[in-house]
Amino acid sequence: MSTIDILLQKAKDFHGEICPGIVMGTRMTIAGMRELGLDPLTKTHDLIVYVEIDRCATDAIQAITGVSLGHRSLKHMNYGKFAATFINTATGKAVRVAATPRNPDQPTDMKEVAKMICNAPEEEIFTIQDVKVTILKEDMPGFPTHKDTCSRCGEGIMDSKEVIIDGKAVCKNCAQGSYYTIL
Ligand SMILES: [Zn+2]
Ligand SMILES: [Zn+2]
Repeated sequence: MSTIDILLQKAKDFHGEICPGIVMGTRMTIAGMRELGLDPLTKTHDLIVYVEIDRCATDAIQAITGVSLGHRSLKHMNYGKFAATFINTATGKAVRVAATPRNPDQPTDMKEVAKMICNAPEEEIFTIQDVKVTILKEDMPGFPTHKDTCSRCGEGIMDSKEVIIDGKAVCKNCAQGSYYTIL
């Protein structure tokens, strides 16, 4: 089996199907890791990936590389863009791989689109930029550096995510309003 077939299979096992986003995420991973001098077939702990979307492509990146939210090696920036930045933490090198906008004339059948993305020359589907990413100490994998307790709701807050109001630690739910309301 070719490298891309092995990687697509891994992504399919995790995601459930080989859809256009899975093919795109697989090719993004191949491009990003190559630029960092890493082999997508070999598990590494030297990789952090910032994804800019929570759609299919992100599952391919996670399935192939093993980065995850739980390991703090996968960072989700909710920008709604098919783009991801791959960082080699051993060398500090970082590259951002962004999908070029889709050609409106392309097929509407999803299988056909997937095949097209699979076979397209890389420079037609991606822009690759060398970038610099400064990862805050409190966002790095590893043991927590700081814990606090919210002075309003009393819940624990990990990893310096509190805000300080009138000299007191307040969680973001209390300080900025939350995505839920308590019934
Ligand atoms: Zn999908
Ligand atoms: Zn609170």
